[in-house]
Amino acid sequence: MGKGFDPDEIARSLSTLDVHDYGDVLQCMRCGLCLPTCPTYRTDGLETQSPRGRVALIKAVIDGKMKASEEFVEHIYHCLDCRNCQTVCPAGVKAGELVLEARYRIEENRTQPLIKKFLLNYAILDQKRLSKLLAPLKLYQISGLQALVRKYDILKLVSDDLQFMEALSPKLPSRPLSEEISEEIPALGTERGRVGFFLGCAMNLIFADTSRATIENLTRAGFRVIVPKEIQCCGTPNIAEGERKIYREMAENTIRIFADRRVDYVVTDCAACGSELKTYREIFRKNPTFAGKAEEFSNKVRDVSEFLDSVWTSDIKLGPLPEIVCFHDPCHLRHGQKLTYPQRNLLNRIPQLDYRELPDEGQCCGSAGIYNITHRNRSMKILQSKIEAIEKTKAQTVISSNPGCLMQLAYGATHWNKSWNVVHISEVLNRSLRAGEKTG
Ligand code: SF4
Ligand code: SF4
Repeated sequence: MGKGFDPDEIARSLSTLDVHDYGDVLQCMRCGLCLPTCPTYRTDGLETQSPRGRVALIKAVIDGKMKASEEFVEHIYHCLDCRNCQTVCPAGVKAGELVLEARYRIEENRTQPLIKKFLLNYAILDQKRLSKLLAPLKLYQISGLQALVRKYDILKLVSDDLQFMEALSPKLPSRPLSEEISEEIPALGTERGRVGFFLGCAMNLIFADTSRATIENLTRAGFRVIVPKEIQCCGTPNIAEGERKIYREMAENTIRIFADRRVDYVVTDCAACGSELKTYREIFRKNPTFAGKAEEFSNKVRDVSEFLDSVWTSDIKLGPLPEIVCFHDPCHLRHGQKLTYPQRNLLNRIPQLDYRELPDEGQCCGSAGIYNITHRNRSMKILQSKIEAIEKTKAQTVISSNPGCLMQLAYGATHWNKSWNVVHISEVLNRSLRAGEKTG
């Protein structure tokens, strides 16, 4: 056993699971309906890699029939937390959420590596700190070194994993978006309301142009956009890695910040952030002093497609985009937020856009936070299936709305030599809105 790893304490902690919240362990009737939806079961074909298997493993530890060994822990980290299983389960078993709960109890009872503590307890608290951490990558990209390294495949000689991570890394903007925009951006035309914009870490530091397009789309739809610059991470990485103390602090901070700004809605263009922000109400449910504020906050949260679709009016002019497109549903949108229609409604409003459905029933792309790095082989198998599904649609443009998915799909397109563009839905809408302005 590794240093600071206590299987008995993990088992004891798991056995205190609240049956009201995690009655899942008992509710599973072993029907198997979840099996074909689970990406790890689809790639490995093993019961232990299925939602049903994961629930059974956790139950075996709780019942004292199995030790919370390192092998058990490994199994718990094989899950992508895509929640596809939760969408189909007739008994309401939340296998993905149960796995996150198990991770929390595991991490409470083992020593945390310094790098993890640094990232989840310190760096993540401030987007400026995160920006500084990305500075070497930015320098590497703009100095021309990246082009040289890629041309001569230099990293392959150093480490296959390093080469893979380098290939995954997207082109960084010259500055984070938060440094380039004002905190309050007025509506274009008659103002219809005040929207708070949750500018997530990845969108601010990596996909700055995308969030710029999102903000412009919101102002074109008639909303004043308020972008609090002091916003912290939504906490998704912390919760995925079993960390809760810092997560709660960041969540409380976010709720207070948006309450102070007196906004009608809180909109985000990151599916993972949206899913997490909507969960705050659950996190603080048992906290008598904060539950009301958390409920009020989560009620205001909208994914950008969900919001725009609900406020769309016929006088918002869209120009034609004659191209074939498909939409990859981020799991945090399709399963985390149960949103499938708004993004399709918006795309179907664009004149001449040929929208085609992906024939894979909303499977995960294999990105799942850092899963593509920690479980690379399986992640690539999952991605390959996604690439094959995209190919069948003959799409020229692949659209999504989550930074992790966008990076994974862009990597897949390069790796499998596909010519399609991978873009966020905000960029497609922005192109159409601008085209509409010209023709209008
Ligand atoms: S679908 Fe639900 S009840 Fe059926 S095996 Fe899967 S987790 Fe259990
Ligand atoms: S959350 Fe996803 S990976 Fe995890 S058990 Fe459910 S379907 Fe499988």
